[in-house]
Amino acid sequence: MIKKESKPDRREYTLMIVPHQGQAVRRIRIPIVKVKYAVSFLCLLIVFMIGSFINYRYTVNVANAEKAELEILRQDNGAQSKELEQLAKTTASLKSDMDRLNSLDAEIRRIVNNEDTATTSRAGLVRPSGTYNGQGGPNAQFDINNVKNTVQDLQAAVSVREQSLLELKQALLDKQSRLAVTPSIWPTSGEVTSRFGWRNSPFGNGGDYHPGIDIANSVGTPIVATADGEVVQSEWYGGYGNMVQISHGNGISTIYGHNSRLLVHVGQSVKKGQVIAYLGNTGASTGPHCHYEIRINGTAVNPANFLN
Ligand SMILES: [Zn+2]
Repeated sequence: MIKKESKPDRREYTLMIVPHQGQAVRRIRIPIVKVKYAVSFLCLLIVFMIGSFINYRYTVNVANAEKAELEILRQDNGAQSKELEQLAKTTASLKSDMDRLNSLDAEIRRIVNNEDTATTSRAGLVRPSGTYNGQGGPNAQFDINNVKNTVQDLQAAVSVREQSLLELKQALLDKQSRLAVTPSIWPTSGEVTSRFGWRNSPFGNGGDYHPGIDIANSVGTPIVATADGEVVQSEWYGGYGNMVQISHGNGISTIYGHNSRLLVHVGQSVKKGQVIAYLGNTGASTGPHCHYEIRINGTAVNPANFLN
């Protein structure tokens, strides 16, 4: 077996240094192997530096990208804060509107109920103003929970308000119905010549009790029903002459006497303001007039209490 012995590299570079003023020339011998080592080291150093530089650039780029993302997030957050602020202002404004509606509702209830059942107002069920701080202003804190609470409050208030308005509507309809069947208008135009109650007899035979009022006018003046109802009498009736009697329900009826002509028949439904007869001078009468009577459960009451 042949063993090959590697010879050390004996080659070398020679550096000659020539001084300026005639001194001896210095020779520096550097073994080539050292030069190789030095070149290798330099190469490694360059590779390391390039690597470090690339790594630095990469890190800087990543940092910049993260910074840009944060900036976008910050802007988004700012936009959301503005939206929340706007939402808070809108809901606060709606709450204010609802408070005004509550007051209006309570006011209408007092009018409808003539102040006597104002305690039935539902306005008190809604939380009073000032519970939440969702008001305007650049320094106000706009908390999403406050906005949520206000919205929930508004939803509840709308529900309560709807129920209240439905009750008001029904109350008004009931009132309208009652008003329609309550004698509240004059049966004809003219001059009141005799009032309700005790009076000197127009026929000169002492005093008598007058169960209605007399309204004088010329023959043929229209006589109208003073409330919705049903005609229960329309005929000649002794001293009343040509007489109409209308029942309005709830025990209330009205009587119109001394007419010249009757326009309705028994069983007919009539509306408030509908012409039912023409003024005349029939029956026990000293001149053309309408004798108007209101009876409650058969007893004559003063019509003046029903007239505006
Ligand atoms: Zn009379």
